Amino acid sequence: MTTATNVAVNVAITGAAGRMGRTLVELASRTPGLALSAAFERPDAPQIGLDAGLLTGAGALGVSLISGEDLSKGTFDVLVDFTAPVVSMANVAQCRALQRAIVIGTTGVGMDRARLEEAARDIPIVWAPNMSVGVNLCFKLLELAAHVLGDEVDVEIIEAHHRHKVDAPSGTALRMGEVVAKALDRDLAQCAVYGREGQTGARDRKTIGFATIRAGEIVGDHTVLFAGAGERVEITHRAEKRATFASGALRAAQWLAQQPPGLYDMQDVLGLRA
Ligand code: NAD
Repeated sequence: MTTATNVAVNVAITGAAGRMGRTLVELASRTPGLALSAAFERPDAPQIGLDAGLLTGAGALGVSLISGEDLSKGTFDVLVDFTAPVVSMANVAQCRALQRAIVIGTTGVGMDRARLEEAARDIPIVWAPNMSVGVNLCFKLLELAAHVLGDEVDVEIIEAHHRHKVDAPSGTALRMGEVVAKALDRDLAQCAVYGREGQTGARDRKTIGFATIRAGEIVGDHTVLFAGAGERVEITHRAEKRATFASGALRAAQWLAQQPPGLYDMQDVLGLRA
């Protein structure tokens, strides 16, 4: 692994032809301190063999897309993975065998925290459902709001994403729910309500509700609503470009190259951990 601070960190992007992957390739190719050293895609992707830069408008970068089935075919210090849960979990095992660090942005059912913790005994891992600096600041603001407003308010989490998103609620909305539940001394698994329809009865104050919108090309909106008697507090984050997640992920990659084995998230990368 690269250790000297003045040496570029070799970063590989997997899922390089995807929405996040293309953004990451483009940004990595012009981020000081980083060198894009490999780009992976699924073995049957039509883009295999193409120069990764040509998918992004960055121009040829001299890095061709190769199959992500065998990561040892590429050179890298840190793998950045925004793919799908089954792929990311397999990549963790490969990175562990290769003794490489991995930054994972993938969300959804199948991401297994216990397995990540186990692998993190041997390699540094960042896993965060949202890499944006603003969202991670919101996690801190939510903690404060929940502590101050307590059980006197109803908490609802509303999220909106583009029509292609395959999981719901978003990993970020769930993490927001966990942060609020923890601050209120509740267990999200017990108090979450993921949808309402028909004769629902009156709202139970101790629940945390989720509402999901899927439409068009929305990059990612999240609002946590604290509604009390006579007033409402709303904490909202709106991502306008995927570059916000990509720059957070690359910041995490640079940070991770200097860390010992362990499972980290963006609160660690940004120094927000209390
Ligand atoms: P996408 O479908 O556009 O891209 C995924 C890419 O992975 C595709 O190009 C696919 O071909 C590729 N892939 C599939 N199997 C592969 C394999 N075996 N090896 C290499 N590549 C493989 O999806 P997306 O919108 O880019 O999102 C990807 C993931 O990132 C989702 O889980 C999404 O929720 C998450 N996400 C996280 C953040 C964050 O900040 N953490 C932000 C945006 C998206």
